[in-house]
Amino acid sequence: METKQAPPVFLTDAEKTRLMCEAIAEAEQGVSEGEAPIGCVIALTGENGTATIVARGHNRGNALKRKNAHAEIIAFENGGSDDSGREPTLPMDAEKVILVSTLEPCVMCLGAAMESGVTYVLFGMDAPADNGTKRVKPPESPESSNPYIEGGILAQECRELFEKWLHGKEGTEQAKFVEQLLALTHEHGADKTDGGSNEPSQQRAADND
Ligand SMILES: [Zn+2]
Repeated sequence: METKQAPPVFLTDAEKTRLMCEAIAEAEQGVSEGEAPIGCVIALTGENGTATIVARGHNRGNALKRKNAHAEIIAFENGGSDDSGREPTLPMDAEKVILVSTLEPCVMCLGAAMESGVTYVLFGMDAPADNGTKRVKPPESPESSNPYIEGGILAQECRELFEKWLHGKEGTEQAKFVEQLLALTHEHGADKTDGGSNEPSQQRAADND
């Protein structure tokens, strides 16, 4: 299987940070609505290492009473049309689509990204127990793609979303996922001292394992 060695599109570090800050803002919006602190934005590649955000989403599992209402799925839904005939902000023929998530996508969301033609996945914090980026094999069918994956963008800030969320919920049923996540990951101290470096903690294509 072919392994992609370089990102399919160029994004400046400042732009990666900006996109992740927007995803973090989505996660915070979710928390204010009583949801888990995971946010996502979908962007289209622009000029000179920039990108334009076309859709946003945060977890809505509690609101929709749907376990699969993950931030990424909601963002794809928000970027598409609906029964009203609304123009999609993420056109079906869009190229060089970028998915930015505060947490490493799960198998479902990474699969959705592949089906949606996403070429570049940026995420913040690792999710070692779910590990969507290792568990999903790349597709070989037409119109689906194997995205280049880069983690560790503002990882500490993304982790702090969970630390804050957990406060007061320790030991509860709903806290189990977050408690395991925090136990399996470590603090990225460097991210704090240099004002938010986004040195990627991992950089690989999905089939690079
Ligand atoms: Zn997911």
